[in-house]
Amino acid sequence: MKYELVIGLETHVELNTESKIFCSCGGHSASQEPNDCVCPACSGMPGMLPVMNKHVVELAATAGLLLNCEISRYTTFDKKNYYYPDLPCAYQITQLNHPICTNGLVKLKTSEGERDIRIKQIHMEEDAGKLVHVGKASYVDFNRTSVPLIEIVTQPDFRSAEEVVVYLNKLKTMFRAGGISDCELGTMRCDVNISVRPEGSEEYGVRSEIKNMTSFESIERAIRYEAQRHMDAIEFETEVLVQETRRFDDVTGKTYAMRNKETEADYRYFPDANLMPIIIDDEWFEEIKANMPAAIDEKADEYRAAGISENEIEMIIDNHNVSTLLDAVVEMGCDPKSAVGWILTECAGVLRKNGKLIKDLDISAEKMAAIIKMVDSGDINRMNGRKTLTAVLEEDVDPAAYVKENGFDKKVDTATIEAIMDKVLAENTQALEDFRNGKVKAKQALFGACMRELKGIGDPAVIREMLDKKLG
Ligand code: ADP
Ligand code: ZN
Ligand code: MG
Repeated sequence: MKYELVIGLETHVELNTESKIFCSCGGHSASQEPNDCVCPACSGMPGMLPVMNKHVVELAATAGLLLNCEISRYTTFDKKNYYYPDLPCAYQITQLNHPICTNGLVKLKTSEGERDIRIKQIHMEEDAGKLVHVGKASYVDFNRTSVPLIEIVTQPDFRSAEEVVVYLNKLKTMFRAGGISDCELGTMRCDVNISVRPEGSEEYGVRSEIKNMTSFESIERAIRYEAQRHMDAIEFETEVLVQETRRFDDVTGKTYAMRNKETEADYRYFPDANLMPIIIDDEWFEEIKANMPAAIDEKADEYRAAGISENEIEMIIDNHNVSTLLDAVVEMGCDPKSAVGWILTECAGVLRKNGKLIKDLDISAEKMAAIIKMVDSGDINRMNGRKTLTAVLEEDVDPAAYVKENGFDKKVDTATIEAIMDKVLAENTQALEDFRNGKVKAKQALFGACMRELKGIGDPAVIREMLDKKLG
């Protein structure tokens, strides 16, 4: 019999906020010492009350807009009760009854054509802490407790592992471009719900939920393994499938049962009376929409229309700092293609020399635009533009002042260049003779000598052309 895979995803994404969701602890990062980022509230001390972080609501709503959801203008929090040592209050604050976003839609481009994935809902919640096991001892680290998350729940609309990966990549690109989340390993985690059914059947099969996967590779492997297990169970009656929660083991490549699927009643959800309902009024909603990043597809089309290549578009969209910088310098009147060259090639080159990556690029749009304009208008040549850029990135100098100081903006007239060229040719008889004897490389040496005499001033293209003419 032929079977069809049915998959629904629950994806947790850590939001890019400056502080936690219900307290002012900030700067949580993986490199911190355990419990360096905690306060009485997020470590569950008695009597502490949560205070909503406004930015979390804004980012969650923005994510919803990007995924074409309806945004709830009235949204509330619930307590989900369970006991585990990494959860200091013994409940997690999450949203059950009135999630912030519902009924979205994501369009995917796959090798089988275009596919629609419906988004059931997006809700806000707090993360739990982490247990650290050392030998026979266990420790608890609360740095991650109350870090803001959104959980994006899809309908069971995926039919292959490929679609899942395309979807996750799309979320990642969108959320990174929108400054919503880094979606790095560990800040994007995925629960995969999976069942199989005979092709053509309308009914869903019994599903299992594979918890907490962080790499696309594990997700693909887990789906492949689990689908096969289900098909064998149905076809050969190797086992009776039950709805349950499983974990995937990267080493064996298999999934293992963890527990029977818990139901809502198991958690004794109830409204969190410590948090007021959040009302998103018209004014706030308009503000959120106004600050929304352009949808990725539109953004990519815009870059494409400006003649930017697909590879470059991917790099730009993947790095929020790059797209913001590019948009700003273009707004200031720089040519888009030229700006892309300066940012992705020249800036990246300087960063690389300093052991950094493009995502570390931090230059003001004003300074970047000033350099691009000086070069494009012919005020300074490209080589000196590069020197100026290096000084800006490494020492944060003022580009115009730096150019003046170093005389990069001096002009030379053709007669002066002519005279210098004659002098160079007269002094470099050997190179000249080599060139006459067919050694092409010798011309480069002569050109280099001219540029040195000119102290880097003048347009290299013009000088090269003049030299060509002189050499016949
Ligand atoms: P629950 O309330 O039990 O958590 P939900 O309706 O919230 O169930 O669904 C959780 C996830 O499981 C969703 O992503 C949904 O698409 C997916 N899902 C539901 N039924 C199936 C099924 N039969 N096969 C695969 N995925 C499913
Ligand atoms: Zn705190
Ligand atoms: Mg659910």
